[in-house]
Amino acid sequence: MKYEIVRDYIGRGNARPGEEIDNVEFIVSHDTGNPGSTAYANRNYFENADPFASAHTFIDDDIILEIIPLDEKAFHVRSNVTTDNRMFGADANDAAIGVELAYGENINFEEAYDRYVWYHAYLVDKFNLNPSEDIVAHSTLDPTRRTDPQNALNRHGVSWNDFIDDVQRAYDKYFQGDDNVSEPAVKGASIDLPLDIGDEGQFVKEVQQDLIKAGFSLPIYGADGIYGAETQRAVMKFQKKYGLTVDGLVGPQTLDKLKEVLNTSDPINEFPLPDGILKRGDEGAEVKQVQRALKRLNFDPKYIDGIYGPLTEDAVRRFQSMYAALDNDGIYGPNTRRYIQMELDDLG
Ligand SMILES: [Zn+2]
Repeated sequence: MKYEIVRDYIGRGNARPGEEIDNVEFIVSHDTGNPGSTAYANRNYFENADPFASAHTFIDDDIILEIIPLDEKAFHVRSNVTTDNRMFGADANDAAIGVELAYGENINFEEAYDRYVWYHAYLVDKFNLNPSEDIVAHSTLDPTRRTDPQNALNRHGVSWNDFIDDVQRAYDKYFQGDDNVSEPAVKGASIDLPLDIGDEGQFVKEVQQDLIKAGFSLPIYGADGIYGAETQRAVMKFQKKYGLTVDGLVGPQTLDKLKEVLNTSDPINEFPLPDGILKRGDEGAEVKQVQRALKRLNFDPKYIDGIYGPLTEDAVRRFQSMYAALDNDGIYGPNTRRYIQMELDDLG
């Protein structure tokens, strides 16, 4: 283990009611939203104030601190948001580990970030998860109220995709023993915000990609990773449209707004149903998506494990039996897909 994990649990109470998690299905990544507040300062707050809120783990530049056992629930996402149900078929508080990054003031970002990345990889390994599918930002689940952890990451030039890439790399290197993988890096940290004319690199490229996704095209150069006049104009248009200071510089406010616009404008892809045919004996990420969809529609396959076993087959069959137009064969194909999608769309 590259890092030690310290387990110093808070006592039972509002913040730690002691309910069990049946099955950890995903991770929600947070930042504390409180610059300079360390992992232990957070622990002491939750212990002493005992609010109806909590998270499992707090990480700063010195320590990875679990304050709630990973087989117990913590309350780190408002239970009335529905994005977690749409994406994962479950409430985050029932099925996810909440991880908080401490940042700002005297907390060394590089050290804290490296621990945060490594710990996510540790959870991926422990609970058999997939970094690109099973880690979600709090801001994605609750976009109108939250901006974390991008709030902390973006200030150091790290995009959400950088972070997921780094978790994948840490997982490959430290948990799969792949020595060919280079160390996870704080890729964008050399960039000082705000971005301005002349800045270059992966982070610039991702901001450009986000601008394009948000409808501010870069017709000549595209997302080339170079902050030139065309990008600056697109940024100014974006700032004007969303009521920000129109200075053509990409600082925290512009980044936050960009994330917010992207998170609220495209909920459709949160639940991509696979094409093709899946049946008993199949395995993989596509099976998992079908399982999540079934669970979301209350045809619970019991395990969201990516294995198309008898319980998944039975859930598909139960779903099919609701529709005269569907064969009751327990096989997921184009017709079943269409009806599942229809039901998901109805849920909104
Ligand atoms: Zn959060």
